[in-house]
Amino acid sequence: MSTSYTASAGYIGGTAAPFIEEMSEITHHMWSLGWDELNGGNISYLLDEAEVAKYIDIREAQRVINLTFPVTELAGKYFIVTGSGKYFRNVIKDPEANLGVLRVSASGESVEVLWGLRNGAVPTSELASHFMSHIERLKVDSTHRIVLHTHATNVIAMTFTHDLNELQFTKTLWEMCTECLVVFPDGVGVIPWMVPGSSDIGRATADKMKDYRVVVWPQHGIFVTGATMDATFGLVETIEKAAIVYNLIGGREIKQKITDRQLADLAQAFRVTPKAGILEV
Ligand SMILES: [Zn+2]
Repeated sequence: MSTSYTASAGYIGGTAAPFIEEMSEITHHMWSLGWDELNGGNISYLLDEAEVAKYIDIREAQRVINLTFPVTELAGKYFIVTGSGKYFRNVIKDPEANLGVLRVSASGESVEVLWGLRNGAVPTSELASHFMSHIERLKVDSTHRIVLHTHATNVIAMTFTHDLNELQFTKTLWEMCTECLVVFPDGVGVIPWMVPGSSDIGRATADKMKDYRVVVWPQHGIFVTGATMDATFGLVETIEKAAIVYNLIGGREIKQKITDRQLADLAQAFRVTPKAGILEV
């Protein structure tokens, strides 16, 4: 028989739901890295119904929140999300106030709050970008689960000084650390600067997600997707590391670099296919 979370309890029998623990740990870690100041950053994580039902009463919704953008493709799906205006710094102290478990309604026009988002809180203001990205990634990858947005400091800095052509941006990242091409041979997408929180930026981001797991928002941050928290976070870490190197060497004389030939050799050795149109070999 399953046990349910109550309004005040976050943990049943001393065991937290693994997905709540994962969200608490990763938000804390990202805040420690300085990427998620104030209420910056948001995460949504697609969950299995059976896994949710082990910990949370899924029979009755606590509240229903209407969506301004219908997501019929996600009808009946369960997500844990960060709350709008909530601080990553505070999630670990009080997951139930800062996170929420949602089920998309059968019509896809609303979400039912099953747990969390205490005191009338609502899901992340970037829910449109998240849901639209989930829809696109699930079309190309059935293992896809996570959409993560963060204000990775050095990636933001790089969008001031680097050309925003996504093929050039990808190539520069690949050239910064040897592991990059192996970790994201599919490259990174880049959209123009847009007002955040809107369906428009959601559509633009999701459109890139047809081809990319990563989308850079200039002067703002990064959207990254993946099958597990480790893989998704690892992808941001790797891109941010490359951006750190780019910023460290910026304006200084380059005496040697990884050549296109070497990048192609690397791809062959690790059996990855670099995105077409970038390497000249
Ligand atoms: Zn943001």
